Formats: sequence, C-alpha cells, structure tokens
Amino acid sequence: MAYDPNNVFARILRGEIPCKKVYEDDFALAFHDIAPQAPVHVLVIPKGAYVSWDDFSKTAPDAEIGGFIRAVGAVARQLGLDEPGYRLLANTGRDGGQEVPHFHIHLFGGRVLGRMVA
Ligand code: 5GP
Repeated sequence: MAYDPNNVFARILRGEIPCKKVYEDDFALAFHDIAPQAPVHVLVIPKGAYVSWDDFSKTAPDAEIGGFIRAVGAVARQLGLDEPGYRLLANTGRDGGQEVPHFHIHLFGGRVLGRMVA
C-alpha cells in the first residue's frame, strides 16, 4: 500500500490538525489519543512516512528504528509509567484492525490492564 500523505497523522505532523502533544524529538511525536481506551492512551508515531509496522520494520533505516524505539521508552518514562508498567500495541494492516495508515504505537497505562484477548 502506498503512503497517503494526507492521512490524519501526517496532517498532525505537519501541524495542520492540532494534537495534545506529550513528547517530540527528531524521530518521533507522541500525543494523546482522541478517543482514549485507558486513563493514559498515547500514540507514538515516527516522523518518517511509513504506512505500518510492517513497512517501518522493513524499510526504515536502522537509525530511525533505533531512535523511534528509544523515543517510545522515553515517552513512557516521562509519563511515569515505567514502574507501574504499561502496554504497547501496534495494529497492523487490515486484519490487525489498523485504521490510520501512518505507523503508530499505542501506549496504554494508568490502571491495571486486563489480559488481552483477540
Ligand atoms: P489504529 O486503529 O489505526 O491502530 O488506531 C488509530 C487511533 O487513532 C485510534 O485510537 C483513534 O482514536 C486515533 N485517532 C484517530 N484520529 C485522531 C485524531 O485526529 N487525533 C488523535 N489524537 N487521535 C486520533
């Protein structure tokens, strides 16, 4: 699937749509999900144009992958979630239930999360 430069997260990256930002560095932007599924529900997205986890893990340069992974950890620590813990999720593609075609990781926390059942 080709990257759609007008997807909602691309527009957030360009500042065309507002977001509640929690973290930003050279590799990633993190902001609160508009429809939170937990007391803390943050989306972490790479600055590069990648459709999905599959696309990112296959085509992104190592420096971008490393920078992004470190950013996800930094976001969790900034939110104070490293000690109580948290959950990361990357819906991927149609069967994975991915709705926005710009790779993103969901970060959930702020309560004890139940076991995930598909
Ligand atoms: P997906 O199903 O693609 O893994 O998750 C997309 C997420 O993006 C959903 O949890 C949805 O609530 C969130 N979302 C969709 N549009 C917007 C938006 O304009 N702003 C923010 N902050 N979140 C959005």
